[in-house]
Amino acid sequence: MRKAVLSLFLTLFLGINVIPIYADELVVYSARKEHLIKPLFDAYTTKTGIPIKYVTGKAGALLERLKAEGPMTPADLFITVDAGNLWKAAQEVVLQPVESEILKKNIPSHLRDPQNRWFGLSIRARTIVYNKDKVSPSDLDSYSSLGDPKWKGRLLLRTSKKVYNQSLVASLIAEKGETAAEKVVASWIENLSVAPFSSDTKALEAVMAGVGDVTVVNTYYLGRLLKKNPNVPLAIFWPNQNGTGVHVNVSGAGITKHSKNRDQAVKLLEWLSSDEAQGTFASLNLEYAVNSSVKPDPRVAAWGEFKENPINVAKYGEHQTQAIKLMDRVGYK
Ligand code: FE
Repeated sequence: MRKAVLSLFLTLFLGINVIPIYADELVVYSARKEHLIKPLFDAYTTKTGIPIKYVTGKAGALLERLKAEGPMTPADLFITVDAGNLWKAAQEVVLQPVESEILKKNIPSHLRDPQNRWFGLSIRARTIVYNKDKVSPSDLDSYSSLGDPKWKGRLLLRTSKKVYNQSLVASLIAEKGETAAEKVVASWIENLSVAPFSSDTKALEAVMAGVGDVTVVNTYYLGRLLKKNPNVPLAIFWPNQNGTGVHVNVSGAGITKHSKNRDQAVKLLEWLSSDEAQGTFASLNLEYAVNSSVKPDPRVAAWGEFKENPINVAKYGEHQTQAIKLMDRVGYK
């Protein structure tokens, strides 16, 4: 009865459609889009006979939904992108820790929560992309050096409102301290050609159009452009190769605090980290597998190998508030 009343409340007042739960069925809330997860769920259901229901939506909205539903949530697994979002879900106590030797073996320790509440499932590299007609790779070096006066009026960035850039700046804070990080970000803003863009794709298109010569994006957005037109004059540069390494982030997942099917949900999460699933998980969005025994898609491998920053991605969450305030202070819109 209480459940029915709560369902009615959630539906009427929060616009949430309550999913009926059946035994031996898993429910996933995913901020990763349907076409990036459905093929994996279909494969898992074929293999195990366990049906998977899923709801897709924005990371923030799904997190609010998990909080609103509390113990009544039908969700067993929460999938989202960016360690900053995963960290926030853990802070909001909608996830529970999982002790699993399989997850520990398949996922390097810097790509999962030190308290085991969430686990990275794919690696996204946030790197420099430049216009091949206007820039020589020998002109490029590190993220910080994009603040060099030679890039005045030539740098393009996505908005600071996007968690990807909050995580990038958080990693600079973790690495250099707040004062030095602030100098770097302020020097980027000095060099901007135009106001920040709402998406990585728009920043890339502006580099193509000559609005600026260089930008910072997740590599899979370049991959999407290259799929449509292999002749775009854009190339990847791997920064910080003599220093800390390329800034990487993750998409990942955690078991919900109130999962009704915890053991089965852990098995699904373990399978998502396995050799069998990792190739698909990463290549559907042209990302990199977290499981090092799985090679990238040939289109991704063509960008070459790089040294990645080994900082624990949980640091992006820990420094997120500082990063947002810092970007606001230097006028990064
Ligand atoms: Fe993205």
